[in-house]
Amino acid sequence: MTKDAEEKKTEGERAVDNREVPSTEVEATNDAVANNQNGAFQVEPMELPPFEITAGDRIDPFVFKFQFKNVEYSSGRNKTFLCYLVDKGNTTDGLLRGYLEDEHTGPHAEEAFFIQCLPLYDPALKYTVTWYVSSSPCSACAAKIAEVLKARNNVKLSIFAARLFEWEEAEIQDGLRALHAAGCKLRVMKPLDFSYIWDTFVENEEQPLNLWEDCKENYEYYHEKLADILQRLVGTLLYVVKMASRRASMFWN
Ligand SMILES: [Zn+2]
Repeated sequence: MTKDAEEKKTEGERAVDNREVPSTEVEATNDAVANNQNGAFQVEPMELPPFEITAGDRIDPFVFKFQFKNVEYSSGRNKTFLCYLVDKGNTTDGLLRGYLEDEHTGPHAEEAFFIQCLPLYDPALKYTVTWYVSSSPCSACAAKIAEVLKARNNVKLSIFAARLFEWEEAEIQDGLRALHAAGCKLRVMKPLDFSYIWDTFVENEEQPLNLWEDCKENYEYYHEKLADILQRLVGTLLYVVKMASRRASMFWN
C-alpha cells in the first residue's frame, strides 16, 4: 500500500482499518480489557454479535486494493474478505450479493457464509454460489466446505481466489484437492476478475480500477501453482487406493 493510501485511510477513520495489522489489534484488545477491568468501559455481553464477522454491501476502495492485491507474500493480510453472489434459481428471491470480512482470531468468513448468508437451506432449490475471496481457504475451512458440498449436492460453488493461502503446506494442498473432489470449482483471479469485483463489490465512486503493475504476472504464478496442486489429485487417489488394497491384503492374508 502506498503512503498516500495509508494517510487517506486514516483520514477516513474506517472502522475496519485498524484491524489490518496484528500489532494494532493486540493493543486495541488489551486497551479494551484494561478499561473493562477498571470499570471505565463496560460491554453488555448480550450486545456482542455472535461472530466477529463484518458483513456489508460494498468494500472500502483502499481496503480492497490492499486486501485483494495478489502479491506473492501476503504480509499484514491476516484476514479473509469474501464477496458472494447467490442465485437460488427462483425469480422471487433474485440474486443475493454482499461481502463478509473475518478476524484472524474468530470464525473464518467461509464458515460464516453458510451460517449468515445461507441459514435457511431448501433442498428443492438449486443454489449457484460464487465467491471472490482475497485468499484461498485454510485446510479446516476447505474440509468444512467439502462436507457441505457433499451433503448438499444442489449447491454448486465456484471459488475465485486472489492469492493461494500457504500453498506450500501439504495439508493446505490436501484441502484444495478435497474441495476440487467435492465438485467445487477453484480458480485464481485473473486481472479481469479484479475489475469485476471492483465494479460489483467496491465503493468505487464510478472510477475504474487501475490494476497494479504485476497483477497479470502474479495471476500466472498462482494459476500455475493451483494447477500443479490439483493435477496431483489423480496421483493421490491412485496412491490411496493402492495403500488401502495393500492394507486389506495384509489383513486378509
Ligand atoms: Zn479458514
